[in-house]
Amino acid sequence: MRTKQEYLDRLKTMNNNLYLDGKIIPRDHEVLVDCAGVIGATFDLAQDPELQDITTATSHLTGEKINRFTHIHQTTDDLHKKQDMTRMYCQKVSQCIGRCMGVDAMNAINCVSFEADKINKGKTQYHQNFLKWLERVQREDLVGSCAQTDVKGQRMLRPIEQPDPDQYLHVVERREDGIVVRGCKVHITFASVADEILVLPTRALGKDEGDYAVAFAIEADHPQIKQVLSPHTMRKRGPEFQRGFDWGFVDSYVIFDDVFVPWERVFLCGEYQHGGICALLFALFHRHSYSGCKPAVGDMLIGMAALAAEVNGIEKAPHVREKISELITIAELGYAAGFTASAKGEAKIYVPGVGKMPYGPGACIPDSIYANVGRCITGESVFKEQQILCEIAGGMPATFPHEGDFLNPETSELLKKYVTRTETMSVDEQIKFWMIFYDYTNSGISGAISYGAMHGGGSPIMEQIAIYGQYDIEKCKNIVKTIGGMEVKDKKKK
Ligand SMILES: Cc1cc2nc3c(=O)[nH]c(=O)nc-3n(C[C@H](O)[C@H](O)[C@H](O)COP(=O)(O)OP(=O)(O)OC[C@H]3O[C@@H](n4cnc5c(N)ncnc54)[C@H](O)[C@@H]3O)c2cc1C
Repeated sequence: MRTKQEYLDRLKTMNNNLYLDGKIIPRDHEVLVDCAGVIGATFDLAQDPELQDITTATSHLTGEKINRFTHIHQTTDDLHKKQDMTRMYCQKVSQCIGRCMGVDAMNAINCVSFEADKINKGKTQYHQNFLKWLERVQREDLVGSCAQTDVKGQRMLRPIEQPDPDQYLHVVERREDGIVVRGCKVHITFASVADEILVLPTRALGKDEGDYAVAFAIEADHPQIKQVLSPHTMRKRGPEFQRGFDWGFVDSYVIFDDVFVPWERVFLCGEYQHGGICALLFALFHRHSYSGCKPAVGDMLIGMAALAAEVNGIEKAPHVREKISELITIAELGYAAGFTASAKGEAKIYVPGVGKMPYGPGACIPDSIYANVGRCITGESVFKEQQILCEIAGGMPATFPHEGDFLNPETSELLKKYVTRTETMSVDEQIKFWMIFYDYTNSGISGAISYGAMHGGGSPIMEQIAIYGQYDIEKCKNIVKTIGGMEVKDKKKK
């Protein structure tokens, strides 16, 4: 497994294909330092003997010890550990840990490449291609990101119906040695500080949309792709009010303008049914990851609400306790749903009209209903959580003075006098507290966090579609009919 330093050293050697505000920037540019620091934590903490049970796994390919972010879940225990690892890491860095997109895409492609080969009856080697790529990823402890979301053009039109066919990434040429792809994937988190980008379809596809059913891995610094960045970092602080951890994240528009991908990196190409399943399966693994990260963010919000109440001296007020209980309920219901999704995991997927059926080479897939329910609860609560924090904090974080004003001798003592609200905490601690509260609720980065927490893994409606489509509502209707003494036509569903 790699060390953080080895990871940072490799970033420095990568090609420059990152664009920011009209300039090409290197991967050790100052706007990316905090983002690389977040990924760096996944190397540092994986070395900690006390955490290794959840941060590492045994490769099913080589039997070697690997970073769990490169592991294919073999058992329900693996799913539990991924969930707990995600929560632990996100607590340590205070937000998104940035490597779940990669592991979730790896797990989806592992299943899809296997099934696509089956229907092609030996004419394709997608799964072998994938396993060979994965073995290297595991050996070198590479960071993967996932580029699923297409720009999508006119929302109500399918890929094939778009006036501009490039609104969804697609194959424009098939060659003997590989394929050429064109399109643009958006909002791709941490792609600029990753080693590899896994590209897969956004949505279900029709028979005539085979060119859009494409999955492959590409080097994040590939000279033919352009990454246009949107970094989100916190206001810099000096030594007097330094944070315990400087968190940041970065998203990319990843533009493929006729990019060649050799066959050995292609894991799906043309099998439209499996293209749709790949999209859903990545979303499923990713929504399961949210049952680790969102509760961790919830832990942070609960702490901020409780500390704001304490600093404001209102911690015993009944309405404050009620609101903090609400935050706890959201976080722990999300965790509980994810826990159940882990416990009920199996090597099966839900197929509309058929029910659950075996899928993939035997790797463990979380239960879809519970993964979606958990993601839905936490995703839809994002702004409710912000409202609770706002209510408890009052206006303080919105207008809190900058660090320099607490250091300027002309204003320092006066400001310290007037921001003091409690004797239970030193004034310097109170200042640091409102500063971190500002970071997570009022800064530029906080807006992007909320949008990501709401839409990442799919907008809430996508979870509702999955839940409604897969739940056995007939069974529930039959329960009512049975109790009501009504006729139950399908006795099996009683
Ligand atoms: C901060 C952040 C990080 C992200 N990270 C990643 C990442 O790492 N990798 C990745 O692949 N993606 C990532 N995403 C993308 C995320 O998955 C998408 O934002 C999400 O799927 C919604 O897509 P969209 O943003 O295009 O919104 P839209 O599709 O434009 O949705 C806007 C609204 O329109 C509705 N809508 C859209 N289409 C239809 C339709 N046909 N019929 C009815 N209603 C419709 C939606 O339900 C929603 O309410 C990230 C997003 C954010 C904000």
